[in-house]
Amino acid sequence: MPDASGLAALEADLARDFARLNHPPAAWVPERAGLDGRSMADVAIVGAGMCGLAAAFALRRLGIANIRHLDRSEAGYEGPWLTYARMRTLRSPKHLTGPVLGLANLTFRAWWEAQHGAEAWESLDRIPRPMWMDYLRWYRRATGAEVANRIEFVDIRPGRDGVALDIRQPDGTAETLFARQVVLATGREGQARARVPQALKPFLGTLVHHTSDDIDFAALEGRRVAVIGLAASAIDNAATALEAGAAEVVLIARAPALPRLNKMKQTVYPGFTHGFPALPDTEKLRFLKHVADQRIAPPRGSVLRISADPRLRLLLGATVTGAELLSDGNGLRLETVAGTVEADLVILGTGFAIDLEAAPEIAGIASHILRWRDRVARESAGRDEWLEFPYLGPGFEFKEREAGVLPGLDRIRCFTQSAQLSLGNLANDIPAVGEGAQRLAEAIAQSLFVEDCGLHWDRLINYDEPELLGDEWPGLTNWEPPLGS
Ligand SMILES: Cc1cc2nc3c(=O)[nH]c(=O)nc-3n(C[C@H](O)[C@H](O)[C@H](O)COP(=O)(O)OP(=O)(O)OC[C@H]3O[C@@H](n4cnc5c(N)ncnc54)[C@H](O)[C@@H]3O)c2cc1C
Repeated sequence: MPDASGLAALEADLARDFARLNHPPAAWVPERAGLDGRSMADVAIVGAGMCGLAAAFALRRLGIANIRHLDRSEAGYEGPWLTYARMRTLRSPKHLTGPVLGLANLTFRAWWEAQHGAEAWESLDRIPRPMWMDYLRWYRRATGAEVANRIEFVDIRPGRDGVALDIRQPDGTAETLFARQVVLATGREGQARARVPQALKPFLGTLVHHTSDDIDFAALEGRRVAVIGLAASAIDNAATALEAGAAEVVLIARAPALPRLNKMKQTVYPGFTHGFPALPDTEKLRFLKHVADQRIAPPRGSVLRISADPRLRLLLGATVTGAELLSDGNGLRLETVAGTVEADLVILGTGFAIDLEAAPEIAGIASHILRWRDRVARESAGRDEWLEFPYLGPGFEFKEREAGVLPGLDRIRCFTQSAQLSLGNLANDIPAVGEGAQRLAEAIAQSLFVEDCGLHWDRLINYDEPELLGDEWPGLTNWEPPLGS
């Protein structure tokens, strides 16, 4: 039974940490009127998953507090954790500190130990998936994030003086808000589309679902299921179908063998985190191409969840070449290069491909965003999909394809998976999200300061708080005259 008093004690410790660190520091960004005379946020953050929350905390740590933060999910249900993530435990090991920005009392470990006792920590293997969501809810509260939920961001118009964001309130009312800087923390699928093999497109939404869909697994009891893919999500969906009582699950993969390594793990160290963004483009591609070419092994726990089940069949080296309706119309016959499979439902564990046009909120500006295809030749990219990644600046900012055509585009910062090719793993998974948020917040602080340079100069000129009161040196007559006299 979790210990509520332990959590209260941790929160008191954290409050002391904040006081000792002088957090939050005084706000320093001069107020600006919005483009329509209404208020203007210094930063709008779209998305309150792990990345959005980390970004908000990092900004507050730097004294940037005029933030509008929104998410379309119900409060406490942001991100994939309680929706379409179907693994039992996190794939990341429990020791990673994630979004804590150096505060030990903000770690998952501190939160867990406060409720279960420090002695029990060693007995915890991996973090149960729903527990991670609980932790993120606590993190949100503990860091003072002010998120408006059930608000959908629908369109964006950058301009010379700020960015207009069209949003939809829960009752459907449309509103426009203005911000000087925008952080898109819209997640893995925020600027992406689900990969769907050509042959299966006609059946999408009926007999074919992507793992990111809301799938009625209870309805799969006694049915035949085909899962396409061999990555973590494919395996976890196969497991969920088996656990729901499916009669048969066929795991169909193009790969000729089950990969055993996850080379992404060899990118989790400070050198890679901070060094990757500084590499030449060719080196960035070389590193990531190698990781992708090796394929990423699914987690051991997920594989153990299915491997001994006699209802599971593994079909390797089996590219899907065609699909047709079964004669009763209730299933599909899949043709693969390794044989035919009949299934009542097909689940695509095929992941996402970055596609800026696929995100309706930014589709209007997508054609102006510099991509990797504008910078590297198709042959050297190694993978066509990578050509679609945005080519971001060092502070996650979008860059214009043609200078001057869409001023203000660089006010929009892409703090999502699609930053990976430009900046490495700073804006996707748990390992480096803290460093990513720090980099993002520093870049925003820099932009806000530089843009307001004149105002900061005036503040400096007008600064008149005396250090010396005039009584420190008895008998001294040549004091500087007070400012303005
Ligand atoms: C099945 C699965 C398992 C994973 N397991 C792990 C793991 O073990 N370890 C790990 O490090 N990573 C894991 N990941 C990666 C995981 O996505 C990230 O670690 C984490 O969710 C990234 O946080 P995020 O804030 O970028 O995105 P998300 O958590 O997806 O949050 C994005 C938020 O943006 C909101 N949003 C999007 N568009 C809009 C809009 N137009 N208007 C308003 N709000 C919007 C969404 O509602 C959502 O709450 C997993 C991912 C999946 C899909």
